[in-house]
Amino acid sequence: MNWIIKHSKLRDIYEKVEAGTRINESDALRLFQSQDLNALGAIANLSRKKKVGERASFIVNRYINYSNYCILSCQFCAFSKKKRDADGFELTVEEMVQKAKEALAIGITELHIVGGLHPSLPFSYYLEMLRSLKSLSPDLKLKCFTAIEILHLAWLSKQSVDETLAELKAAGLDSLTGGGAEIFRASVRSQIAKGKESAEEYLDVHRRWHQLGGRSTCTMLYGHLESHEDRVHHLSLLRGLQDETSGYTGFIPLAYQPDNNGIPVKHPPTGAESLKTIAVSRIFLDNFEHITAYWVGLGINLAQVALDYGADDLHGTILEEHIFHMAGADSPQARTEKEMIQAIREAGRTPVQRDTFYQPIRVFNDPVNSEESRQPQSAEA
Ligand code: SF4
Repeated sequence: MNWIIKHSKLRDIYEKVEAGTRINESDALRLFQSQDLNALGAIANLSRKKKVGERASFIVNRYINYSNYCILSCQFCAFSKKKRDADGFELTVEEMVQKAKEALAIGITELHIVGGLHPSLPFSYYLEMLRSLKSLSPDLKLKCFTAIEILHLAWLSKQSVDETLAELKAAGLDSLTGGGAEIFRASVRSQIAKGKESAEEYLDVHRRWHQLGGRSTCTMLYGHLESHEDRVHHLSLLRGLQDETSGYTGFIPLAYQPDNNGIPVKHPPTGAESLKTIAVSRIFLDNFEHITAYWVGLGINLAQVALDYGADDLHGTILEEHIFHMAGADSPQARTEKEMIQAIREAGRTPVQRDTFYQPIRVFNDPVNSEESRQPQSAEA
C-alpha cells in the first residue's frame, strides 16, 4: 500500500478492492464526493490492473450516421433535425457503401452506425443497409443502433423487440451500440430527453439482445443536470444487468457537451469531474472488463490521463464524428492509428488494436520495431 492510500480517508475502499470485495452504492457516493483524486486514481488503477493489466486498447473504426432526421426532440440533443431544417441529411445505402469501402481501404475493422428516428425510411432500408455493408468483407463488424432505434425499428416492422433483433442479426448486425442511456433517473431523464425510452426499456432491449447471444456496450451521459447520486443509481442499474447477462463488453462514460441544445448547462464537466467519473466507474463496475476514455468528449490529452484513472481503452479512430461536434466538442473528428498508439504508449501502457468485442488484433510491444510501420496509412483529421 502506498503512502497516498495509507493516509487517505478512502483507505477502507482500497482495502475492499484489494480483497476483491464489491463496493456498495454508499461507497461509490463517497468516492464521487471525495476531493482526493490521487487516492481515487490509486484505487481505480488497482482495480484496472487486476482486470486487464497494463494493456490499453483502441479500435480502427469508422462512424457513419445514416441520417440526423428524428421524430423526437430530446432537449440535450444538438444532432437531430427536422425535414424543414437546412442542415438535415440522410444517406442512401449506396452512399454508405461508398464510405465503407473507402474506410476498409485504410484498415477499419468496424463500422459504428447510428442515426435519429427517421420519420419515413422503411424497415427494409435498415436490412438492406446491414446486408450491403456486411457483404463488403466477412471480417467487417457492424456495431449499430441505440436502444431507442431498436424500439423504433420494432414499431416500423410491426414485430416484437426479440423478432426485430433476430432479423437485424440475421442481416448482419454484430453488436448494439451503448448510446442513448443518457442518465437513467426518471426525474433527470425527463428534463434532458423527454419522450425517449425509459431506463427499463433501454435495459430491456440490451437484455433481450444479450439473451440472443449478442454483445453491446453501454454509456452514461454525465455533467449536465444530474447529481452524484444519479450517477451511482445509473451505474448500479448497469451493474445489475451485467450480473444477470454478462453481455456488456465495456462501459463508456460520455462527457456532456454544452452547445446548441435546450438544457440550461453552460459548462461541460471539468477534467477533475471526468477523471473522477471514470475512476468510480472502474471501481464500482467490478463485473465490467473494459472502461473507455472517450477522447471525442474528453480531448485526447485528458483521455490519456484517464488511463491512470481506471480506463483501459481510448475508443477508436472514428474518421467522421457528428453528434458530439454538433454539441460543441472541439476535438478533431478523427484520430490516426499512430496518434492512438502514441497516446497510449506515452501514458506508459502497451497499445493494443482491438476488435469490436475487445479481442486483441495487434499488440504493439516494442516501441523501436513497432508494428505500426507495417500498417496501412490512416486518414488524417
Ligand atoms: S438523442 Fe437520439 S432520439 Fe433524441 S432527439 Fe437526438 S437523435 Fe433523436
